[in-house]
Amino acid sequence: ASVPNIDDLAARDAVLSYVSNNRCWGLACAREMTIMDITASSAFHYNLETCTEKRTAVWIHEPYTGQVIDSADRGPSPKPWDVLVVPPNPYREGQVVVEVPHSARIVNCYDCATMGRRRCWSCFGNGEIRCNACNGTGKILELESGSENQRINVPPGPKACYQCGGGGQRRCVVCLGPGQLPCKTCLARGQLKLSLQLTVSWKMYKSDRVVERTAVPEVLIRSVQGRVAFDEEKAAVWPINFFPDEAVNHASRELLDEHRARFSAEKTIAQRQSVRMVPVHQVAYVWRNYRGFYYIYGHDNLVYFPDYPQKTCCGLTEILTCSIQ
Ligand SMILES: [Zn+2]
Ligand SMILES: [Zn+2]
Ligand SMILES: [Zn+2]
Repeated sequence: ASVPNIDDLAARDAVLSYVSNNRCWGLACAREMTIMDITASSAFHYNLETCTEKRTAVWIHEPYTGQVIDSADRGPSPKPWDVLVVPPNPYREGQVVVEVPHSARIVNCYDCATMGRRRCWSCFGNGEIRCNACNGTGKILELESGSENQRINVPPGPKACYQCGGGGQRRCVVCLGPGQLPCKTCLARGQLKLSLQLTVSWKMYKSDRVVERTAVPEVLIRSVQGRVAFDEEKAAVWPINFFPDEAVNHASRELLDEHRARFSAEKTIAQRQSVRMVPVHQVAYVWRNYRGFYYIYGHDNLVYFPDYPQKTCCGLTEILTCSIQ
């Protein structure tokens, strides 16, 4: 009923403006063709959007430096799905990280057993390492060229290592002596704050289907403006079952089933389905020895004419002069 009426005049206007927009196509065909028949129909574009929410909780720890601890003393800790987190906008993807209320507590650092310090990994707690100049012996053999000993052919004798002063050990350069390093896990505080971290993420999934029975490609129906015939938004929608075109009902059932199966690990929080209606007119024409169809679609009378007979540049095959320079 809402399909706009296209008469012969409108059908010719549409094809004339379409052909003149394609430089160098011959216009004669569009001008002279005989319009035999116009068949009106509607294409439907069904759209489904499903917004889901996913929650994951993990225990995390951080150094305890005196921050406020929201522990079980303040009340029982809620289950992840009972924590109140409202999506800023259900139709936008996003993520929020919160601490589960009353889940925090203070524990001893498992890395340093509350000491705040750990044994140095370089000197193993000794504070010193073996001198590598003398290999720990404290002595080195040194040849002094031109010395008196060499002149009188006495073999060089051992000298005290000047790197370690003869002790064979040098101070550890990592801990600088104490043999211990501050614990990184607790920032040397000895205690950790343990809490349950909840990550809430929102995702949106879109699917669509075009119901179209002429030769007009689906991509054209998707991109052209249409009229909204049905639009519904709920926490969870039911499949459409009342549409006059059974293929639309079928598309709704199928896509809803598909979303339910694919996103079963997430919770659906909002769903929107809509049907856009796009008018399509199939026009049968005859011109010279050509006969075929072209299509007028959308509310702005766009044309789809895959086999326009005068596509060759300047109508060369038709011995016509180019009308657009
Ligand atoms: Zn520690
Ligand atoms: Zn040495
Ligand atoms: Zn050390």
